[in-house]
Amino acid sequence: MRYGIVSDIHGNLEALSAVLEAIGTVDQIMCPGDIVGYGPNPNECCEIIGDLKVISVLGNHDAACVGRHDLEWFNPHAQTAILWTRDRLAKSHADRLLERPEIHSGPEFLIVHGSITQPLEFDYITSPWRAGESFAEMDEHAICFIGHTHIAEIYAYKLHHLGADQIPKCEGGKLTLAPGFKYIVNCGSVGQPRDGNPLASYGIYDSEENTIEICRVEYDMPTTQRKMIEAGLPDALWQRLEYGM
Ligand code: ZN
Repeated sequence: MRYGIVSDIHGNLEALSAVLEAIGTVDQIMCPGDIVGYGPNPNECCEIIGDLKVISVLGNHDAACVGRHDLEWFNPHAQTAILWTRDRLAKSHADRLLERPEIHSGPEFLIVHGSITQPLEFDYITSPWRAGESFAEMDEHAICFIGHTHIAEIYAYKLHHLGADQIPKCEGGKLTLAPGFKYIVNCGSVGQPRDGNPLASYGIYDSEENTIEICRVEYDMPTTQRKMIEAGLPDALWQRLEYGM
């Protein structure tokens, strides 16, 4: 099977469209959460994700936009965008977000937004140490796809060894999965990268080749920024897109 991974889309329709075009034909698309929040096109992004029958889990912004997560948890700019999204999100899309599970457990892999240990606490995996807590709870699964940090990177843990390797992938690149390892894979963010690379980020997992490739693609950022300005979203939110931060 070939899977496309699109995480942290955040209502950025131009980035999602460019990524889906770059992914082309795959057997299944997966989203480790945050379809909405920040960006100007939450309904359009939910529509596309619904039409493609994407396997997806609940992100913290998805949860906040439908009242399943406390607004106080977020910084002021994020809160403004969440309230803006709440006011505009169609009920049908909100209902579907409400139904999203916190963890997807498939035969070949897990998907969670933040970390496996406490999925609804939305912890950030940003170090091998933090990854270690989730590796310990992966049971028989060799791969867990995450999002949340908006940083493209892979954590590799050799079974029965201490620690894990943190493999940066902010410029993209392919990794062949080795037997005897477990992996936590963050394919970066489609709609608001924060790893210093402003290009939209996505992943391809080929379960027959046993490879994961993280890719970056240009999108029509000026259009997204113009829509955000017209929508009255905070300046910092459209400005940060240029810097990938
Ligand atoms: Zn996010």
